[in-house]
Amino acid sequence: LRFCQDIPKVELHAHLNSSFSRKTFQHLLDRKAETKPEVKDFKVYLEDGEAESLKTAFRLFKMIHQVCDDEYSIYKLTYDIIHDFAADNVKYLEIRSTPKDIPQGGLTRKSYLQTMIKAIKECEAENLDIMVKILPSIDRQRGLEVAEITVKLAKEIAQEFPGYVPGIDFSGDPQFLDGSDFIPFFKQAKADGLKLALHLSEIPNIEAETLEILKQSLPDRIGHGTYLHQFKPGEGYEEILDIVKTKQIPLEHCLTSNLKSETTESFEAHHFGYWYALKHPQVVCTDGRGVFLCELSDEYANTAKAFNLNKEELWDLSYRAIDYTFTSEMEKEKLKNEWSKLKNSCF
Ligand code: 5GP
Repeated sequence: LRFCQDIPKVELHAHLNSSFSRKTFQHLLDRKAETKPEVKDFKVYLEDGEAESLKTAFRLFKMIHQVCDDEYSIYKLTYDIIHDFAADNVKYLEIRSTPKDIPQGGLTRKSYLQTMIKAIKECEAENLDIMVKILPSIDRQRGLEVAEITVKLAKEIAQEFPGYVPGIDFSGDPQFLDGSDFIPFFKQAKADGLKLALHLSEIPNIEAETLEILKQSLPDRIGHGTYLHQFKPGEGYEEILDIVKTKQIPLEHCLTSNLKSETTESFEAHHFGYWYALKHPQVVCTDGRGVFLCELSDEYANTAKAFNLNKEELWDLSYRAIDYTFTSEMEKEKLKNEWSKLKNSCF
């Protein structure tokens, strides 16, 4: 674990409203206790219940959203999360979040994203050794109209703050709506110069939407992709694997999240193994440090233990992740230089 803590790392799959530390969440709970007394039980729920399945994870998010519902909480979440990742030697971080209109909290979707960027800039002013970007999320549960608004807003904010918004995320409960209905918005985002990080094949039996999305709006990265290689045989879904492999689409793996939300039986059974054997581009991520209780260094250690990776292989895993970031080539070079400088001191 020590080595996993020491090495510089890249985090590409972290949702804002699930990446908080216990301390931050307790602080946000305490300040809501007076105006929203019902939230005081959430801590117990978080600790005892955690995310036991994908369903309970989505129930948890609803609770968390009741606590993090104003400018202060979005700023505090972003600021603290950046500091927490920096303390775990994360040098590059993409935080994804669904911009929300919360009139009672004084937030519009736009000011939500602006608040996140304000926190990033504050960390930059403190010379914190971490580069941070944001990916506005389309939450499929919120429907198509909101998806359209989110893509327009992402473009607007990307123009207002060059370099901070390199792409968008597609997430939310995969049991809601047909993912392929969102293809026009993915296409629009691409046309606007935004990269696509899409949650795909997170649950079984959604091969049809996965294939359509892959064919029509090729993602730049895939979140989870748990069932990409476990399609129903004989129904024409082999093409899913063909596309992912031939286009070498990087996969974002979140081992603890998948274990706790029961989409893998064990770390050893995680689909990381399938793709690692193929030398497919992949990156180890946390998903939600706060909800799933794991640091990125823990995830590296879990991966090493489950798949017998040695130090050199772990280093490569983290170094190669730089290429899968949505940042500019110049910033990638900067990160690679930083990795090279740190290498000797880590081994
Ligand atoms: P937020 O976007 O509010 O900052 O972060 C929480 C949201 O991220 C959830 O409401 C959900 O839409 C999305 N999310 C977090 N974890 C997962 C996951 O494992 N799978 C999917 N599909 N969505 C997730």
